[in-house]
Amino acid sequence: MQDNVADLPPVAPMSDPSNRLAHRVIVVVQCRLVVERCPGYYCIRAAEERTGAMATYPSDTPLRLFTLDCGGCCGRAVHRKLDLLCRTLAKKEGLERSQITVHLATCITHDNFHGPPCPHLDYLKALIGKLNLTIREGTHISQRAQSRRSEGIYMAHPEEPDAQSSEQSP
Ligand code: SF4
Ligand code: SF4
Repeated sequence: MQDNVADLPPVAPMSDPSNRLAHRVIVVVQCRLVVERCPGYYCIRAAEERTGAMATYPSDTPLRLFTLDCGGCCGRAVHRKLDLLCRTLAKKEGLERSQITVHLATCITHDNFHGPPCPHLDYLKALIGKLNLTIREGTHISQRAQSRRSEGIYMAHPEEPDAQSSEQSP
């Protein structure tokens, strides 16, 4: 269905580099095994709606989202993928690493519908830490999974973000 352009709010054009630099850059790292079946919808929706682990970003701070998968076990490829993304953003747009936050998707960090947390989680965090990037754990947090974690059906996460959704996703 075609939107009526007149009904849409004005959006700062991303073609203007100064507008791009005003965005907070979020890179969502997803599990290669999970994204074989998951399109990542809930990760992106959490960022758009500032829910789950994305609730800390003010709604008036525009976010610019990138997604990539870890490259498969043991996750080592995440280092070169993220490094290349950072270098490209620096070279093409003058973006500094301090402006980039990496979110490890909830299916990596939490026991959930798809399985237990990634067995290489600490290794992933060490690799990303070597790139001097801020790391946060989680994206979308499902209320159902959160209940299962509090009931002991799933393992609890040590730093549980607020549950704000009832969808069937981690
Ligand atoms: S957190 Fe959910 S939506 Fe995001 S990649 Fe994992 S399963 Fe998919
Ligand atoms: S390293 Fe972890 S996040 Fe990556 S594919 Fe393996 S289990 Fe998934």
